[in-house]
Amino acid sequence: MFEARNRIGGRVHQVRNGGYLVDTGSNWIHGTEGNPIMTIAEKTKTIVMEPKERSVIFDTQGRQKSEEESGTVSEEFWAMILQAFKHSDKHSASIDAQASLFEWLKKQWSEKSKDDPDSVHTLLEESRMFGQFVGSPVTTQSLKFFWLEEGLDGENVFVASTYEKILEEVAKPALANAEIKLNTEVNHIAYRTSDDEALVRIYTSDGASHSFDEVVVTCPLGWLKKHAQTVFSPPLPDRLAQAIENIGYGALEKLYISFPSAFWLDNNDTKTYPGFTTFHTPEYHPDPTSKDSTTWNQSVVALSHLPGTSAQPTLLFYMHGDCGAYLTNKLSSHQPHSETYNALLKEFAEPFYNRLPNYSVENVACKPTSFYLTSWQTDPYAGYGSYSTFRTGLQEGDKDIESMRDAGGLGDKGQGLWIAGEHTAPFVALGTTTGAYWSGEGVARRIAKQYGLTIEDDEHCATLKKVDTDESSTNSQLKQKNVEKGASGRTVVPEGEVKT
Ligand SMILES: Cc1cc2nc3c(=O)[nH]c(=O)nc-3n(C[C@H](O)[C@H](O)[C@H](O)COP(=O)(O)OP(=O)(O)OC[C@H]3O[C@@H](n4cnc5c(N)ncnc54)[C@H](O)[C@@H]3O)c2cc1C
Repeated sequence: MFEARNRIGGRVHQVRNGGYLVDTGSNWIHGTEGNPIMTIAEKTKTIVMEPKERSVIFDTQGRQKSEEESGTVSEEFWAMILQAFKHSDKHSASIDAQASLFEWLKKQWSEKSKDDPDSVHTLLEESRMFGQFVGSPVTTQSLKFFWLEEGLDGENVFVASTYEKILEEVAKPALANAEIKLNTEVNHIAYRTSDDEALVRIYTSDGASHSFDEVVVTCPLGWLKKHAQTVFSPPLPDRLAQAIENIGYGALEKLYISFPSAFWLDNNDTKTYPGFTTFHTPEYHPDPTSKDSTTWNQSVVALSHLPGTSAQPTLLFYMHGDCGAYLTNKLSSHQPHSETYNALLKEFAEPFYNRLPNYSVENVACKPTSFYLTSWQTDPYAGYGSYSTFRTGLQEGDKDIESMRDAGGLGDKGQGLWIAGEHTAPFVALGTTTGAYWSGEGVARRIAKQYGLTIEDDEHCATLKKVDTDESSTNSQLKQKNVEKGASGRTVVPEGEVKT
């Protein structure tokens, strides 16, 4: 295994901020039913939290809506998102590739609440928050392929004690059995041509080269986008190269701010303020570049609500689009936790957190003790972003994913090149840790089969098998669901649950 970084884990990673362990990448498990990551979470006694419904919205003027009002907006929003999944699922073939989720939502609410423009405005503002889910502005979310964003059945749970033990468990077999070369970037891959017997050759940043029978490339989609044209020889088949170009790559960033105590709670009682706060496009804190203030909305999780020992006086901000780009760029030349770094982040975040209950400039509890902002979009080994996304203009999103999953057929045709990672996952798990996990299992099974090997079942393999109606494909859940529903040839919306 060649790993460019000095650590394993990729987009699953933790750092300490203000003395507390936090996830810089994934921190949700999307859909607990039949989810191997959930099984591993249980096995490792990882603490997870099923979020309560309670949330609070601050409107574009910075005024707090009541919990009741916020709840109604949120309910209406998610109900319409479910409708959008159904619509995309059913009509994908006839939906124009340029149609955006945002425009569709706007049309639905404008028709439904003709006489109440304020309510339409609020719902549209709430829908902009979806940018934090897909890592891109909701105005560029494809309606045609919105169904690809749909997750597994079951709750979405917040991994309270972080992904640390999950990563440890997943990495165990590799750490025990594989030779892992850290700090070793792969920069060229020469795979077999169809009538050749040669081994696949890998060239690495230390000037060495290595030969293998089969090679699985798990570099992120963003990395493939940047390098696919030059890294592979012979060049990748046209359809595969096109698929890599077509599928979008989002840029979600996370900002953690720790305080001496959770000042937004009365006596640390979590009943006194909800764990989820959303700030609609903040007119009181506009984008200084005037590029796109609408991506300055914020979705904030109060980690004071995490269970037991996981609770910490920390606010987690999710950001995307121009806002994230602006901040990561501004901080790029400053050391994390340096005075300027902290000052820049405070300047950005204060207009939001100073609206929370009990805030007072004089109160020492309201003075941040530590800031940490991720910078996935400047990270070459994360592909300069966070995870796959399906943008307007996409014509054949499902076929693109299938093409990457099959690595243009190069592995199955004996040419020794396979692709795995979240961008090649079963449709119900694209962009997630579950999808990344399943994609690896899928490729491993296909390679093993080619060599006439039988894979011993374990609980994760069994999970994958249960939903696998076609041994040669990892696109199994989709097929299973289609068999069950016998319907549209598309995924089916799970009742009441969507990917967070
Ligand atoms: C901010 C953020 C929040 C997220 N939130 C969630 C969430 O809540 N829930 C969820 O399920 N998912 C979430 N995800 C997505 C999830 O983290 C990814 O889908 C998953 O971790 C991807 O795994 P992977 O193995 O495909 O890729 P990676 O984990 O990126 O692994 C690829 C590896 O390849 C290495 N590499 C890259 N280029 C080279 C090279 N040239 N040579 C050698 N090595 C190379 C990288 O260093 C990395 O270790 C989030 C991601 C981000 C960034």
